[in-house]
Amino acid sequence: MPKVNILPPDVIAKIAAGEVVDRPASVIKELLENSIDAGAMAIEIHLKDAGKELIHIKDNGCGITRADIEKLFNRHATSKITAIDDLESLHSMGFRGEALYSIGAVSDVTLRSQTDKEAWEIHMRGGQRLDLAPASPSGQGTDIKVSELFFNTPARRKFLKSNTAELNQILNIVLPYTLIYPDKKFTLTHAGRSLLDLRSAPNRLDRAAAALNLNLKDLIETDQEFVQEAIRVRLILGNINVQRARRDLQYIFVNNRPVDSKNLSFNLNDVYKLIMPPGVYGAFILDITINPANVDVNIHPTKREVRIKDEAKLVSLIRRVVEYQLMQKGGAKTVSHSREGGNPDANMDPRLTHSEMTTGMTDGQGIASYDIIYAPGQLQSMMNPASYANRESTYTRNDSAANSLPVQDDMLAEFNLFNNTTPLRDKFAASRYIGQFMNKYLLFEANSTLMLVDQHAAQERIMFEKFKNQIEAGTVEVQPLLTPILLKLSPQERIAWEETQEKLHEVGIETNQFDDETIAIQTQPTLLKNIERTVRTLLAGDDTPRLDKDTLARRACKASITAGDKLAPEQVEHQRKQLLNCHDPFTCPHGRPTVIEITDGFLERQFLRT
Ligand code: ADP
Ligand code: MG
Repeated sequence: MPKVNILPPDVIAKIAAGEVVDRPASVIKELLENSIDAGAMAIEIHLKDAGKELIHIKDNGCGITRADIEKLFNRHATSKITAIDDLESLHSMGFRGEALYSIGAVSDVTLRSQTDKEAWEIHMRGGQRLDLAPASPSGQGTDIKVSELFFNTPARRKFLKSNTAELNQILNIVLPYTLIYPDKKFTLTHAGRSLLDLRSAPNRLDRAAAALNLNLKDLIETDQEFVQEAIRVRLILGNINVQRARRDLQYIFVNNRPVDSKNLSFNLNDVYKLIMPPGVYGAFILDITINPANVDVNIHPTKREVRIKDEAKLVSLIRRVVEYQLMQKGGAKTVSHSREGGNPDANMDPRLTHSEMTTGMTDGQGIASYDIIYAPGQLQSMMNPASYANRESTYTRNDSAANSLPVQDDMLAEFNLFNNTTPLRDKFAASRYIGQFMNKYLLFEANSTLMLVDQHAAQERIMFEKFKNQIEAGTVEVQPLLTPILLKLSPQERIAWEETQEKLHEVGIETNQFDDETIAIQTQPTLLKNIERTVRTLLAGDDTPRLDKDTLARRACKASITAGDKLAPEQVEHQRKQLLNCHDPFTCPHGRPTVIEITDGFLERQFLRT
């Protein structure tokens, strides 16, 4: 029988620490919340090696007394609650008294703090106190340096990601607090370079614009109280000009705490579809004030997903508010034919500039309209993707386009109506062009099948192969921009840009720094359109350091295309030829089919002829 051992305290400390702090961003979250709880009006964060080497936070809060400083690094040392009843009426960020204890257990910490009376400095390393001594006064507040994070838990240290990824996480933690505390001053530097430098702002709107580098004129603000429901909803919404490839300008707060809510996020994004082209996301900052008793208190520090009582009701209320605001002030409704079946042009706002009319009528929209006619099962069975086997390995289920793929593997097995005797290439080459449907699909007739080409996907494939060939041959055709395009970047995008600038150059996109928060695009590859949107897409996400040229080209092509053109028969012919010249004509670079077939057999069954 193995003997039961009681773990020694230092081992327990390390295990417990792992639950609270798992990376630099979580250390920063805890320290930042402590500074906020201490009433600090100015908070400085300085990092080295994305916080892996040093996290230095300085605040001008109330400071810590000598008596308290001794207890700080003990487990469950907190000044914020004394009894369980306090939990219900809590207004502070932290209350478990575990953060400093955990951080102290897995790093080297020097904490210097000054109250209105005294100043002390304590030094902890791996949970051991090395020193506690009076310090010379230098202003009220707390100054904490956390270095060598996870020096004594190498497994965890190894688990840390690239600096870009860690810095992104850090910004994701810090930015929300800057948004709800506009009057506080925030500074964030990395290796001496400034990432955030926010002066005290008069209100949330100004702060949002400054922190996220957005134009004030592109933001809509509303603040509404619903007396009966006892709810206050404060919203800052980006209008149609604020479009991003990812949901990284979206923030939700409940009672001033940053939270995650899949439900709210889904619904707000859904409302944004009313004004946004497919595949891009809007910006929002939603702050709900609600009776704390109706919120599932976030007992665990690392869990942010929030649960609210009567959530469905709240969600529909917020949906209405957002919808009203966007319809009134959000810009224009670009596409509506998918659900309502109307004419898209009828809903175009005349104020729209050309670049905004990226109606990009892609899959999601198309499928929605089919759904009205066919039950989903039928729809799937009629879609017989050509060359499914050719799908590239880069196909990801997370890709929003890929998610709405109308094909499922089991369906394929069941409805493999595809005529394998004639290679698809030959069949497509020999087919007769019938016409264009919705400026979106090209219809061809071949023997007893109807072939549908998704113009958008086909164009993407053609462009991708040309672009890729040019890149590989080192002959990217470039066109200088007469006036450089200025792009204001969010702090995350700026980090990504610094990592990617060289690679962008290699694919023909010349960029340079214009000012602290703006870059200038100087050249664009002749093949690509929408260069502004393309660059933003390439800067989205924290995988930029690992981007290879192939992926870069693939993403660029996707972002660059706008569909919905009416094509003359000669243009269709040209497109067919180009597609047939492709190495891999029957999938788009993201793995969606470019051509599908509807067989006579399928139609006969639909008409109940068999
Ligand atoms: P908690 O925040 O859950 O109480 P922590 O371990 O984060 O637990 O902090 C322990 C205590 O240390 C806090 O309750 C607070 O009294 C004190 N403290 C920590 N950081 C600061 C700070 N920056 N300024 C003033 N007091 C602080
Ligand atoms: Mg705390």
